[in-house]
Parts: sequence; C-alpha cells; structure tokens
Amino acid sequence: MRTVAVTKIGNLRDTDEGRRGRIGVVDFPDQPLGAEDVRVRVAYAAICGSDPHLAEGFFGTDVPIGLGHELSGVIEALGEDAASRTGLRIGDRVAGNFLKFCGICRPCRDGRQQFCERIHDYNRPGMAETVTWHASQVYELPEDVSLRKGCLLEPTSVAVRIADKTRIRPGDTVAVCGGGPIGQLAAQVMCRYGATSLTVIEPVAARREMALRHGADHAIDPTDEDQLERAREVTGGRGFDVVIDASGSPRATRGLLDIAAYGGTVVYGAMYPSDYELPLNLSDYLYLRELTLTGVFVSPYAFPRALNLLPYLFTDELTTTVYPLEDAADAFAAHLSGNHPKVLIRCNNLDDVGAA
Ligand SMILES: [Zn+2]
Ligand SMILES: [Zn+2]
Repeated sequence: MRTVAVTKIGNLRDTDEGRRGRIGVVDFPDQPLGAEDVRVRVAYAAICGSDPHLAEGFFGTDVPIGLGHELSGVIEALGEDAASRTGLRIGDRVAGNFLKFCGICRPCRDGRQQFCERIHDYNRPGMAETVTWHASQVYELPEDVSLRKGCLLEPTSVAVRIADKTRIRPGDTVAVCGGGPIGQLAAQVMCRYGATSLTVIEPVAARREMALRHGADHAIDPTDEDQLERAREVTGGRGFDVVIDASGSPRATRGLLDIAAYGGTVVYGAMYPSDYELPLNLSDYLYLRELTLTGVFVSPYAFPRALNLLPYLFTDELTTTVYPLEDAADAFAAHLSGNHPKVLIRCNNLDDVGAA
C-alpha cells in the first residue's frame, strides 16, 4: 500500500541538501482488518502545518514515518462487529479522527482522552491508498459535504477544540493570529459562536482577504501595522476578550499577551518548536491582568460537532490545490512555498462516489 512518508529526518526548508529532510512515497504492508475495524479507501489527504515538524523528528526519528491525519475516503471493507454495530456500510463516504483512544486507561475514563496513555501506540498514516481504522474513529460525511471538503473534518475538529478552550461568551471580542487553515476555520467557528470585533492578524494579504470574506470584521498586517495600536482601536482600548494563536510562530506569541483584555483568555492553539520558551512576566499578565493561558494538543470530543459545522463553513479556497499521490514531494514543496492556503493529495480518484 503506497504511503507518503518522511524518508529522511531534517528540516524540509534546510538550504543544505545534505541536511534537508525528505518526503517520499513508500510501500507499507496493509493493516489487518479487526472485527471492529473499518477499511477506508482514501480520497483526499491534506498536508497539515504540523507535518514538517514530524519531518524534523518531533515525535520520533525512525524513518520511514508515515504521514497524513486529515483525510476523507470511501469505506471498502468492514469487520464483522463494525458492520453490525455502527450503521456504516461499504461505499459510505467518511472522514475521521486519526487517533484511537484506548478507553481503558485512567485519562480515557476521566474525560481526558487527549492524554490517553496509548495515544502513540496507534498511528496509521492516512496519506495512503487505504487506511484501516477502529470504528470509533470513523464518521459518515453529510450528504452536502464533498470528499474534497470532507478531508477538513480533522482540522475543523481542532478549530472546535480551540473554541471550547476559549470559553467564549456571546459578544466577546476575538482576535485570531494566523490566517492558515486552522486560523481560518477557527475564525469562522468563533464567528458562529457570537464573536464581535473579530480580527485576523496575518501578514499575507490573500489570507487576510479570505478571512474578511468569511466573517472577520478587521484584519491586521503585523509586519506593516502597529498591532497593539490597531487592537486598541478595534476594541475601544480594552483589548480582546479572547485571543487565539493559530500561527505557531514564536515571533507572534509574545505580542498576543499585550492585545488581550484584562481577564481575557489566550489560546495557543498551534504546535511550537520544542525548544521555544515564551517570556512571561507573571506579575503583569497573571496577577494584575488575570489572563488565562492555555493550549490545544489534540481534539477529543470535538468530531461530532465538527461534522455538524462542516456544511456551514466556507472552505473552497482551502481545497483548490491538489496533487496526485505519486507527486507527494512536490505537494510538500508547494505547501512550504506558502503560496497555497492548503495543499491536498488525491490518494485515489473517488470524486464520482456520490452521497448515499
Ligand atoms: Zn493537522
Ligand atoms: Zn486511553
């Protein structure tokens, strides 16, 4: 089974070719189909901002490392129990959660599946011809969601989890830093949640415009404008009740504390370099301003709601760039160029499979 994988550890942007990481297509053995499993023929798998971090060895350095956790596809086989207990059928269009939570460990029993003690034991790459998942990971797509849009279910679940962690109240003022896919989806989710003065902070004009087309009220170019000054202007001098970082950029993180309102919440909703430390004056930000700082690792309990939200979200700009599986290396180069809002890999041509 052909699978896109990291074949050499290293920074994918390294100018020194000897040190640069590499992406290739390798052949992995088919995964066994257990009684509770579902085999999915993958239609689309999207490249995530976190994938290049995997190439740097963030979660391990034994190559090849199979990639792909944002995918859609069509069911081609069902284990006996998955068939009788889920209502899923061969031919159903699905997407899902790449993580399988064990359900047995203490965190799983305690409403904290994101800390499942077996979370790293089960990693089945989805940027592949097929993937076999446990039935608990699989969700049937709504009729009006195409396979192309369906691969955004997982990033949408991250936007939902970010929204959960903001503990937003309707009417709260909200800023989203970063106009990549997670920032765009988070802004749209916050908009539906009752955000006001919704402001996107993003250096790339096309991304600012995309956010403005889909619900943002204001946009700040942090490279060209005084971010703090604009934030004060937009919020009547108070700062934002909710600030979300979806940029993952260490340069952006510090300034976000200053645009938060007293009592505000700052969600660092991205993946950061493992050696980066944020300078934080506890007296100013936690004592005097009572800020709540939090983050998002993965998104348990968010998939059913992400599935409900997906038909309402504007995502056409995120799914226009598509590469075939065999050109995965080119797809990653396109992702790294920053010229595409998001890059998809077509693993099989299944566009003709209609809604059931
Ligand atoms: Zn992702
Ligand atoms: Zn567990």
